[in-house]
Amino acid sequence: MAKKPTLPTTEKPIAPADPASLAKPPTQTSGAADAKPEATPNSSPGVGPKVSPGIERQQAEAPQGKRPEDKQATQSGPVKASGPTAAQPVVQSVPGLPTPEAPKAEPTRPEPPTAERAATPGVQAPNASEPAPYSKQPSRGGAASPPGTQAQTPAPVSAIKERVVEREEPARGAPGSKSGASAEAPVPGRRSAEATPGPAPGIEPRHPAAGAVTEPVRPPVVEPRTRTLPEAPAERRRKPEAEPPAEHPAKPPVEPLVEPLVEPSGARAGRPFAEPEPSAPPESAPAPGPYHYYEQRPSLYVVHVTPEMAPVAKVGGLADVVFGLSRELAIRGNHVEIILPKYDNLRYDHIFQMHPVYEDLWVPWYEGAIHCTVYFSFVHDRKCFFIEPHSQDNFFNRGSLYGFKDDVLRFAFFSRAAIEFLWKAGKHPDVIHCHDWQTALVPVFLYEVYQSLGMHHPRVCLTIHNFLHQGVTGVEVLRATGLHRPERFMAYERLGDNNHRGALNLLKGGIVYSNFIATVSPRYAFETKDSGQGFGLEPTLHTHHMKYGGVVNGVDYDVWNPEVDHHIPARYGIDSIDGKYDNKRALRHRFMLAESEKPIVAFIGRLDPQKGLELVRHAIFYSLEKGAQFVLLGSSPDPRINADFWGLKRMLNDSPDCHLELGFDEDLSHLIYAGADMMLVPSQFEPCGLTQLIALRYGTVPVVRSVGGLADTVFDKDHSLRPLHERNGYSFETYDAPGLESALGRAIACYYNHPDHFRDLMKNAMRSDNSWNHPGQDYLNIYDFIRHR
Ligand code: ADP
Repeated sequence: MAKKPTLPTTEKPIAPADPASLAKPPTQTSGAADAKPEATPNSSPGVGPKVSPGIERQQAEAPQGKRPEDKQATQSGPVKASGPTAAQPVVQSVPGLPTPEAPKAEPTRPEPPTAERAATPGVQAPNASEPAPYSKQPSRGGAASPPGTQAQTPAPVSAIKERVVEREEPARGAPGSKSGASAEAPVPGRRSAEATPGPAPGIEPRHPAAGAVTEPVRPPVVEPRTRTLPEAPAERRRKPEAEPPAEHPAKPPVEPLVEPLVEPSGARAGRPFAEPEPSAPPESAPAPGPYHYYEQRPSLYVVHVTPEMAPVAKVGGLADVVFGLSRELAIRGNHVEIILPKYDNLRYDHIFQMHPVYEDLWVPWYEGAIHCTVYFSFVHDRKCFFIEPHSQDNFFNRGSLYGFKDDVLRFAFFSRAAIEFLWKAGKHPDVIHCHDWQTALVPVFLYEVYQSLGMHHPRVCLTIHNFLHQGVTGVEVLRATGLHRPERFMAYERLGDNNHRGALNLLKGGIVYSNFIATVSPRYAFETKDSGQGFGLEPTLHTHHMKYGGVVNGVDYDVWNPEVDHHIPARYGIDSIDGKYDNKRALRHRFMLAESEKPIVAFIGRLDPQKGLELVRHAIFYSLEKGAQFVLLGSSPDPRINADFWGLKRMLNDSPDCHLELGFDEDLSHLIYAGADMMLVPSQFEPCGLTQLIALRYGTVPVVRSVGGLADTVFDKDHSLRPLHERNGYSFETYDAPGLESALGRAIACYYNHPDHFRDLMKNAMRSDNSWNHPGQDYLNIYDFIRHR
């Protein structure tokens, strides 16, 4: 233990990567041929769509270990001291509930998918004929877009405006187009449609989906990197605001509850949200030109409706995305708010100034309504509203976020409550940004209920973080949420599940009703639409392909940055990389591993079949055999998987080179990212993956299966087509033991045999920019796109 490990350091100054040496394949590779740079993604064996969303991701509550070191066991988030809210049946009838429309004839099945593809720079639509090779990453680092897309020629804004005008023109006669049928209120997804009510034979033309199918539009234009908006002054961004007073629900909404942090410029400044757009800009405003538009982009008012946000309510990457993206949007001068359920196990150590701002929110539910209180607080400068229902259902006082039979009802209620809050509070965001099936009903409510109540303004962007979880459920949810009309919503064109007759699919509803759907990497967008990874939603994605694209997640470098990370004993950067080895020592000390020359291979993640658990298990023994140490931090809501890994932990209890930590511990994860040499991500499928992105920042070389976002962000040292200085890890294609060994074997061999090359790889990893800078701009382009539709 006392022995100082020999590390792959070079005493001499670090030279840039030696192209010849980096490109040279190692000799000890087992199955190295498996690592091909541009193979078509494989389907994921053994993974099927989850029909019962009640058993979806859950925070783990693993039992404590028996090893001595397990005294330092997993810290779960602090649990609210008080028990479940006193269950008061507070259901009452609510006057003014929207009356359901009379059922109408359902449209026929949509046309087969067209060959057109959206081409969104930075918001890349998948391209079936050309899986993007590593060298084609238009959304990252300003690289070129795939040929055939419009990414290389950003259209001037005037073109976008022309398109908006075009869309307001009468029909072109295409079936299902705007002309094909006048719109059936209240489902317009477009501004132009708001003034054209009428009966609705066939597919509703004003529906965002209908227009997308039949009316090709040009996707949002990526702002050139050099034209990035100047950030708002720091003092304005950070200034805490007075909390908005809650208005009486009965009052007509006039002003937004919270003023934007940065004064909006242009047409929106000082305008009550309920008012129509001013017909002309103020006299003093210069006439907008094609580029002027971007330079003076009005501040947007964006509301995220989300089931998770790091660190207060985190199960997986979705939580990190909301945390990081909301910050990035605010830094760029937009006004951002976040609406979350008020879980009983929120991490209150990260919540500041929580206080009630809306005491009497009555949310329609079945034939009555449930009384809710809405709290406001800051979570590391993010403005958050937490909705607390008071009912015997005890929706969010259950100790964990997911894993209950009524999960669909719980989150359907949350979705209804969130939009009811927006409406009652007089908030009219420019964009409501929803996440995953849990909040996919928000656009359905917006267009089916709240638009006719005056919420014409908001547009909806839905980010799908994982297609495995779709919220497939029965008709009960329609009754509960007041949507009723099963004959309408069960229809194939709306929420009817593609695979299970008689079932509703909430995620599908989100796709159909949202103005734009983003998933979390371009490769995953391709895989879900064209490569069998959509878990039954492939036809729906084809139908709505014009409003579908992929944006690779970013990482919040305020949190995940070894230069400023307060969770690790030694901070380090690319020029002080030796500090990493102090963290390696600390990690060994924490897990009582032997001091040695060995590299540490790590795995951090949910213990879910998606993450490639067979390969994780294989990697443990393979690493030990090849002279490496292995650490694992993971948790599972599935008792069988938990038991399996507890058995493994007991089996390896006496190994000085292996430690399995079963539980969820974000603070500990920082130490592992900083102390490990390699991060293993052998997923069956991976929408984006944050572990490899975080690992890159910490100079921990990722060893990944080349699927989804992993393929978009990790470039194999020996086989990638990328320039040498962009190669940042090891990857393999086939989901089997030889495939894994082909990559992990090369990584361990390089560590031992070419420590200087390994060190160069670490530096390449640390240099790659996976911040929210580019994805933030991509999302702003999406927002601009949908605001003008
Ligand atoms: P997913 O969203 O599928 O769970 P991602 O890779 O996108 O996977 O995000 C996982 C995030 O959750 C990362 O920030 C990772 O560090 C964190 N995480 C996963 N499991 C654990 C755990 N047991 N303890 C601490 N953090 C974890």
